[in-house]
Amino acid sequence: MDGVQTRRPRAKKKLWILLTVILLVALSLLFLGTRLRQWVQDKEKTKLLTLVDREHPVEDDYNVEFTLLGEGQMVDSRCVDDLEAMMEACRRAGGKPVLAASFRTWGAQERAWEEALDALVQGGLSREQAEMRLQRQTEEPGCSEHQLGLAVDILEQDSEAERSQQVDTPTLRWLQEHSWRYGFILRYPENKTEITGKDFRPWHYRYVGREAAEQIHELDLSLEEYIEMFFAS
Ligand SMILES: [Zn+2]
Repeated sequence: MDGVQTRRPRAKKKLWILLTVILLVALSLLFLGTRLRQWVQDKEKTKLLTLVDREHPVEDDYNVEFTLLGEGQMVDSRCVDDLEAMMEACRRAGGKPVLAASFRTWGAQERAWEEALDALVQGGLSREQAEMRLQRQTEEPGCSEHQLGLAVDILEQDSEAERSQQVDTPTLRWLQEHSWRYGFILRYPENKTEITGKDFRPWHYRYVGREAAEQIHELDLSLEEYIEMFFAS
């Protein structure tokens, strides 16, 4: 009898330890599961192939790590190495690339849009006409991929020509031919204006990663066509 009486509290204690362990494991799994789901959602939200235009504005909580490049320029850290390698290769090939634009905040995009709109309205267009024209040349706040930090405008240094006139410079010619090797695509090509809805912009390059850039280049696609072809659900 004595033996039975002493074994009972021990068995009870063991049961409590086991229950505590099970509870701790369950809580840990729940915690890890939540973190994992959050991580997958963040990854999906910030993927390199994120499409941004009028129909697909930048998400309010879009958040990635940025790298400051000096002279007020900032980009998504994921494209820094390739961007620097591309600029260096362009210089070696005789170009004089200068980074004219990169990450733009919502406020900066808004100011740029309003200023351009005012200039067109002062030039004699109605506000509606001005908006229609501007939509081909720049983006409304929230609709620019500069707001992702994955787009850059690169111009020829010391060029006398205004940005919109810069097409046939050594830098822009080189970029149009080689940017894809560094994961950047000419985002608004001359032969895709119907699809992108944007005028040809030989200075605007978008980072999509080397693999996607190579495929886009090989197949001669716009980003819209590439996403539609391979990633449409
Ligand atoms: Zn741009």
